[in-house]
Amino acid sequence: MLATRRFDIKYVKGIGPARAKLLASELGIESVYDLLHHYPTSYIDRSTIRPVRSLFDAVAAEVAYVLVRGRFVSFNTLGEGAKMRLIGLFSDGTSTLEVVWFQGWREVRKRLRTGEEYLLFGKPGIFNNTLQMVHPEVESPDSAGAAETVRAVYPLTEKLRQRNITSRTLHAAVMQVLGNLKAPLKETLPLSTLAANGLMGIDAAIRTIHNPTDADSLSRARLRLKFEELFYIQTDMLRRSRKRKADTQGYIMPHIGRWFNDFYSQCLPFELTGAQKRVIKEIRADMAGGRQMNRLVQGDVGSGKTLVALMAMLLALDNGYQACLMAPTEILAGQHYETIRSIVAKIGLNVKLLTGSTKVAERRVIDSQLRDGTLHILVGTHAVLEDKVEFAHLGLAVIDEQHRFGVAQRARLWAKSAVPPHVLVMTATPIPRTLAMTVYGDLDVSVIDELPPGRKPVATVLRYDDQRAKVRAAVRRQLDAGHQVYIVYPLVKENEKLDLRSVEEGFAQAEQTYAPYKVALVHGQLKPAIKDEQMERFVSGEAAILVATTVIEVGVNVPNATTMIIENAERFGLSQLHQLRGRVGRGADRSYCVLMSKHQIGADTRKRLEIMTSTTDGFVIAEADMQMRGPGDIEGTAQSGLPFDLKIANLAHDGQIIQLARRAAEVLLDDDPDLSLPANHGFANALADMLSRTTDWSRIS
Ligand code: ADP
Ligand code: MG
Repeated sequence: MLATRRFDIKYVKGIGPARAKLLASELGIESVYDLLHHYPTSYIDRSTIRPVRSLFDAVAAEVAYVLVRGRFVSFNTLGEGAKMRLIGLFSDGTSTLEVVWFQGWREVRKRLRTGEEYLLFGKPGIFNNTLQMVHPEVESPDSAGAAETVRAVYPLTEKLRQRNITSRTLHAAVMQVLGNLKAPLKETLPLSTLAANGLMGIDAAIRTIHNPTDADSLSRARLRLKFEELFYIQTDMLRRSRKRKADTQGYIMPHIGRWFNDFYSQCLPFELTGAQKRVIKEIRADMAGGRQMNRLVQGDVGSGKTLVALMAMLLALDNGYQACLMAPTEILAGQHYETIRSIVAKIGLNVKLLTGSTKVAERRVIDSQLRDGTLHILVGTHAVLEDKVEFAHLGLAVIDEQHRFGVAQRARLWAKSAVPPHVLVMTATPIPRTLAMTVYGDLDVSVIDELPPGRKPVATVLRYDDQRAKVRAAVRRQLDAGHQVYIVYPLVKENEKLDLRSVEEGFAQAEQTYAPYKVALVHGQLKPAIKDEQMERFVSGEAAILVATTVIEVGVNVPNATTMIIENAERFGLSQLHQLRGRVGRGADRSYCVLMSKHQIGADTRKRLEIMTSTTDGFVIAEADMQMRGPGDIEGTAQSGLPFDLKIANLAHDGQIIQLARRAAEVLLDDDPDLSLPANHGFANALADMLSRTTDWSRIS
């Protein structure tokens, strides 16, 4: 199988250098291997020839492709210059259809004749009340391809279609390659894994997926290929995590002592939730176990992660170590610092804040206290990772809001002590379990799945542009009652200029509408110092309104803010909306979130936004988001990065196969931890090869 990697596709009959170049640039297909692994996404039943008359219904029913049989009545060109196109009028006796070619039509015109019978295969559409088919495949009824009953449909780009590279081209090339193989494709999975899971062999699977004979074998082929992708990932992750656990010693922290106990009896302002207790127990077991902890704590916004982190840090202190907590922004670091300092004020812990703007004098104090061990907890931003920050004995590093922290930055923690500190990563982006298993495969995962009692869910409504007057009146009532309000605008890369304008206009408008209340403005284009200053105006209460882009998404805590207006809500992902909404409802007062949207939104978008109005459960929202948008779009997961692009497996829909692959990986590695047994050589090579094609497969360790 691997040998096929070295065969350039330009040598495949029917491809040649020009097409090879296009396939490489458009689809990344360079070798025969790539070609065989460019799987069809669907199949078309070609056994049914439809009457042209029925195509109006087919369009209405959104049928993708149809096959019709008939004759061209006439050919005409329309338009001029580059816009010139060829239109063939096609009839099968039941009705007529316009067939349009925008490109390559001179060739087409030479090849096709009126009066002769053809099969057209393509996507019907309606344009100006006329049935149309653009760039269909045309063949004569007695050609070889016409006899196929099932035709694979491959992912293609518009450019390829324009250059007349169709599913048909790819399929023919694949069949050409498979027909010329001297031996069956070499199996890549361990035979034991294949047998134990009843999976199809690679040769049969590849042949079947490109040329299925029946639905049953097709689904077995798809299962095999999905399994393979997921199995590579699971084996790799599991191997890393086992190796890390075996190799890296961790500090052993068996004691519960003064700090923890004093805190519990003197500072804890409320009873812990059951979920918090459970997660603290899991953390304790890790820290006492002698292996380095690498644990991810997932918990919805407001579930009380900070407290859990603090208690883990106290455990480290009780065992004679220091701890640090890092947040992605100065504002967040500052808030954590204030929170922690105020909670532990009674017990005399030494807590300090280190950010880019820490003054030199203060910095000197921090440095010396870190080194002589008298500083217990350092809270900060990336500044904590700088080389010159030296701890006497750093035992635990907590990283809040993980997805804003670069992987490489986390790795720098390791340089801080001979034995790596325990690491606790906290994220408010709840992701479904099977996805966590893949994306955070070598982290242990804890979940805080319970909110502190007495929280009132944020009342969420969807409002349209024509209801603005009412929304403004409601905002004013909140302001008059002494509360604060967020107004959030989307800011996306593709449209930055326009978005920036809308947030600036929104600011001007808010100043006008809500005078004399003061308005602060925060967006990503502002200098950090100005951003912090604006933010501070809102945090201190001087400004009653904060107009912002999503920079406020993470962790800002202003309990007096009771209302959030989200403009163009349809442009946000659900998980992102959920994070944003988490900024309100943090105090005792009833809170509101208004999703503003244009009136003309599609049914899908409305359905999406209605999930927000119907639930406040982050996991339900994440699951729905993933089902609707695909896993790649979920906040925070894209950056974590899989070792290679999945071609066929789908993290949102193949949860069961992920679990199957995970178990199979466990069995394999139990038996052969280094994949060094001769029976597993083929697989070990295939895995190494897959991983070598990646550039950024960096994990937390
Ligand atoms: P997260 O970081 O998970 O979004 P925080 O740690 O900021 O949540 O906690 C949100 C709020 O809930 C804080 O004001 C915190 O003091 C409070 N809180 C945390 N745990 C509890 C609890 N067990 N009971 C009541 N309130 C709690
Ligand atoms: Mg938090």
